[in-house]
Amino acid sequence: MAGRIEGRTAVVTGGCSGIGLASVRRLAQEGARVVIGDVDTERGPQVAEEVGGLFVRVDVTDKEQVDGLFRAAEETYGSVDIAFNNAGISPPDDDSILDTDLDAWRRVQDVNLTSVYLCCKAALPYMLEQRKGSIINTASFVAVMGAATSQISYSASKGGVLSMSRELGVQFARAGVRVNALCPGPVNTPLLRELFASDPERAARRLVHVPMGRFGEPEEMANAVLFLASDESSFITANTFLVDGGISGAYVTPL
Ligand code: NAD
Repeated sequence: MAGRIEGRTAVVTGGCSGIGLASVRRLAQEGARVVIGDVDTERGPQVAEEVGGLFVRVDVTDKEQVDGLFRAAEETYGSVDIAFNNAGISPPDDDSILDTDLDAWRRVQDVNLTSVYLCCKAALPYMLEQRKGSIINTASFVAVMGAATSQISYSASKGGVLSMSRELGVQFARAGVRVNALCPGPVNTPLLRELFASDPERAARRLVHVPMGRFGEPEEMANAVLFLASDESSFITANTFLVDGGISGAYVTPL
């Protein structure tokens, strides 16, 4: 039986870990040819081998490398149909605005926001020529609500990803290219585990706001990515796609 995205080429940044890795596996399961763009040269080749895809070492903050990633996808598989622009960081020195210095601010903006601009800019020409494509950019629930545990540059970067995705979705809707922002709630990945390992109180504080009473799993994000990538979401664009266990809808949470 053909998969839900059989024969399409999907580029996934940050595909060596967490949400990206689960998505690489899910997209491949449904028939996509997957190109993994990541800085992790140890895991990258293993992941590519596992799914029969291609690994390209790329730092998503570098324009030439990002252009090379999408070029490699087109040259290897003949199209760029799906771009899941997902690589991101959440370092501990990005904290309250009172304690976050300019270097930390800039590093997070580069990896989380400028990278998405670069990836969209690189992917769009291929998709516009095909008159078909689906771009999914990873934002976050913190793009739509204030977090008690502030990470000022991270939150601002995700707000930027959300706004950019919405604008691109509107601009290219009639050209056959859909652009959506995936907004995960807190997800059980190395990024979140590292952030909270040093501060269990902080983790507990975040968990208390999730109506479902647990963190999401990467596979639950991957299912949303698959849906947004496939034609099943053909009337969905410029969307704030929240997959958050109810966190953004809650005023109080049940005990
Ligand atoms: P993760 O740390 O598990 O994986 C991130 C991946 O990105 C890694 O493979 C890493 O090597 C790669 N990466 C980092 N910097 C890179 C760079 N400069 N160039 C190329 N690759 C780079 O993280 P995750 O939790 O799976 O997060 C994925 C995305 O989801 C991020 O954008 C993150 O902000 C977002 N997000 C995560 C959560 C959460 O709770 N985990 C919630 C909301 C949004």
